[in-house]
Amino acid sequence: MSVTSIYERLADMNKAYLWHPFTQMKEYNNSDPLIIERGEGVMLYDIQGRAYYDGFSSVWLNVHGHNVPELNLAITDQLGRVAHSTLLGMANVPAIELAEKLVQITPEGLTKVFYSDSGATGVEIALKMAFQYWYNRGRRGKKTFITMNQAYHGDTIGAVSVGAIPLYHATFSPMLFSSHVIPYPYAYRQDGGAKSASEATLAALRNLLEEQADQIAALIVEPIVQGASGIVVMPQGCLREIAALCRRHEVLLIADEVATGFGRTGAMFACDLEGVSPDLMVVGKGLTGGYLPVAATLATDEVYDAFYADYGEQKTFFHGHSFTGNPLGCAVALASLKLMEERRMVQGVSTQASLVAKKLETLADWKHVGEVRQQGLMIGIELVQDKASRKAYDWTDRMGVRTSLRARELGMLTRPLGNVVVFIPPLASTEAELAAMTDILAKAIWDVT
Ligand code: PLP
Repeated sequence: MSVTSIYERLADMNKAYLWHPFTQMKEYNNSDPLIIERGEGVMLYDIQGRAYYDGFSSVWLNVHGHNVPELNLAITDQLGRVAHSTLLGMANVPAIELAEKLVQITPEGLTKVFYSDSGATGVEIALKMAFQYWYNRGRRGKKTFITMNQAYHGDTIGAVSVGAIPLYHATFSPMLFSSHVIPYPYAYRQDGGAKSASEATLAALRNLLEEQADQIAALIVEPIVQGASGIVVMPQGCLREIAALCRRHEVLLIADEVATGFGRTGAMFACDLEGVSPDLMVVGKGLTGGYLPVAATLATDEVYDAFYADYGEQKTFFHGHSFTGNPLGCAVALASLKLMEERRMVQGVSTQASLVAKKLETLADWKHVGEVRQQGLMIGIELVQDKASRKAYDWTDRMGVRTSLRARELGMLTRPLGNVVVFIPPLASTEAELAAMTDILAKAIWDVT
């Protein structure tokens, strides 16, 4: 069969059988689907042999590139032992070793690891743990949550309940528990910039906590970088203040590091940038180098101890997933963390980030570039209709989508967030690869705007 007929056959089957996430299928089915066949380093290759830079780390999770011998080996080695066994009442070797490693590398105070299989399930676990923590301690009025405007924590019901992006979440509101929403400090869209954005967030939080802390279990936050809202970077010091306020008012702090974890922001975890130790922390995506679906929720001794009791006291955390602590996933996560250490990858991010910043410097002057936001290797470029007034493009203009499609024609994959063009390259990208990717990104923006 020729390559063209293989492609056409797969494209027909794709249309016939697959329902894609976050995708209007009517629109998608009228386009030529991109069908990936293999990957090598930071490149992905489609079934027709075309090469693309993975400019968004396959939705922000790839760390070392694709088809990495050390990671492949970790999986095949574990595969020769056992692919899966449960954590219900028993353990497995890689799950134990990874738990120890995670406790060593995460912020101080986090001492226990509860596994799951996606960022969203990790968030569900954090929410349920926070809720039951207060329940077990007899403070049963503390049962609501605080989240931030435009927050995204995944797509399961609990995660959507603390989500605050109307486009994704509003439809489901009758199914959800309600949460308090405070403003996220979005300096670009706040009169007075970073300082006043930060003050608005902290004032709202302070007021809420002063009035209602006895009814609030926890605050959940995407630390330092709010991802899905458009790679919005928090002003310096804000996270530390949020953490201090939560502590003062006895409200647990849940750090959702699903997107920011494992080096992407320039520190191992975004919380490290401000010396914040949350009560609960969720990691996923980059945990396995982006290879297999493993997530983890980490808790402090204080949280753990509230569940630690005789069985009859009914303080057990009744939660689990079939694949909790999957040995293949844990083995590849261990191998990924080992490689990160050996190659000093987190330490390298600041040099990589400076190179990208330098390459993107000129964009700031372009007519339709409102703001270039960057924290480490998380970059968002907000396109605007009018630079002076910061007037946003209408969502029907689809500027982000059009720019991404142009980038794809030029040989780089990314996925936009509204009018924000996203660039989140794998940590393993070389200087030459980063330079090539930023050139494509800039050309795509230039061509579309
Ligand atoms: N939390 C954050 C901050 C995220 O960015 C995401 C995904 O993008 C999630 C949670 C959900 O993770 P998953 O897609 O693995 O369920």
